[in-house]
Amino acid sequence: MAEERRVSWRDRYPDEVTCVRCLDVYDQMLLDRLLWCESCRARARNRATWWGWAGGFAFGAVLAAYVWFVIQPSDLVIGGWIATMVAAVWIGSKVAREFVYGAMRFRNARAVEAVPPVAGEPGAMESDQEGP
Ligand SMILES: [Zn+2]
Repeated sequence: MAEERRVSWRDRYPDEVTCVRCLDVYDQMLLDRLLWCESCRARARNRATWWGWAGGFAFGAVLAAYVWFVIQPSDLVIGGWIATMVAAVWIGSKVAREFVYGAMRFRNARAVEAVPPVAGEPGAMESDQEGP
């Protein structure tokens, strides 16, 4: 049995990894490659969806203003414009959601509700030096 495993920092705690977002310790299998746990991903998705709708409606409002004041549609085609607007809000929200979620992933910051581990707790960071 020639088992050649690359030694990495993970080998120190083979089964327990701290989620970088909520700072709770989870089984390694539950975290993705950015070390986000399941619930953090769900929460981020949720928040991104919320912001996505906000972005979608903002986009729709701008488009509505543009259509209303610049294109000035007649009563005959207003239904078509409304359908276009609904589609724009829908697509805009999807695009904005992916954008927001991507930004969250990219920043990779801890969540606002995350509680830093107490010093001395097993698995806590050793870099606890107080500055002068
Ligand atoms: Zn988490």
